[in-house]
Amino acid sequence: MWFLGRPVMGRLLMCVHEICKFGILAFTFSMRKSFLIALIAVLMFGGGYFYLVAQAICPAPLTYSIGTIDSRFAITSDEVKLAMSKAESVWEDATGRNLFTYAEDGALVVNFVYDERQDFLNTEGSFEEQLNTVENTSKQVQTTYDELVAKYNTLKNSYTTQTQAYEAKLSAYNTEVEKYNSQGGAPAKEYAKLELKKKALDTEQKSLNSLSSSLNTLVKEINAVGEKGNLLTTTYNQGVTQYNKTYGEPHEFTQGDYTNKIIQVYTFKDSAELTVVLAHELGHALSLDHVEGKESIMYYLIGDQSQVAVLSTEDSAEFNRICGDLSLLDALKLMLSRFEE
Ligand SMILES: [Zn+2]
Repeated sequence: MWFLGRPVMGRLLMCVHEICKFGILAFTFSMRKSFLIALIAVLMFGGGYFYLVAQAICPAPLTYSIGTIDSRFAITSDEVKLAMSKAESVWEDATGRNLFTYAEDGALVVNFVYDERQDFLNTEGSFEEQLNTVENTSKQVQTTYDELVAKYNTLKNSYTTQTQAYEAKLSAYNTEVEKYNSQGGAPAKEYAKLELKKKALDTEQKSLNSLSSSLNTLVKEINAVGEKGNLLTTTYNQGVTQYNKTYGEPHEFTQGDYTNKIIQVYTFKDSAELTVVLAHELGHALSLDHVEGKESIMYYLIGDQSQVAVLSTEDSAEFNRICGDLSLLDALKLMLSRFEE
């Protein structure tokens, strides 16, 4: 039994030994595998972390150059450079970091692409100008009209007063004439006096007729000016209706975009708006995403940002998320969120 047992034992032992050996081997192997996984993980996450940190510390300064500017934009290359330096300052002044630098061969290229979007804006501008011209002309016509009416009223008052005086004198004259007629005629001396009075009355009547004629001419002039004013008002009102119909509706279109180190500007109303468009695209060039808050530079729509472009709290938070110093945990979270995308 023992003998039997021994080899059995021995085998058993061996077996146990083998198992142990195998077990040890297996254990060793699994240790190595785990170590390898851990190593890969460390390399991946560590590499990712360093990659992110390297990215997090924005590739600053990012060099940019001016690409093509369509001549239909009323802007020179120097003006674009100035606009870019203003857009740069929006980020640099707020963060105290040198993030962008102009270089003739700068990797980030800024192009101005003219299409129906800027055309729409230009048409809107000239339409507005036309409306303003009509409005101003209309105002001038209104002033002329008011002046003419004032002149008419003064003349009309004078005419009324003079007419009343004339009629009183005429009535007195007629009474006198009637009186002498009923007496069979005026004595020669009185007759001569009456003749003089009649002459004076005739002259006065002529003057009144002339005044009346002037008033009629003035009325015609006032009516003509009034008609012109009405026509201008109709034209203006029709223009405003048309303008509101065409441009009053809220319309959304891309003012600029950033893809693969290229900033394209499609439309801008004025230099203040251009600064916001460029600052927004520079944000994208730093890998920043859109943020909430209508006043944010990185808000997806333009319109409610302040005239003097400044970063909002959301903009600063987004900048810090991408370009600020990230903790290891934040970096991992960010990397994992990017893998999920
Ligand atoms: Zn955007």
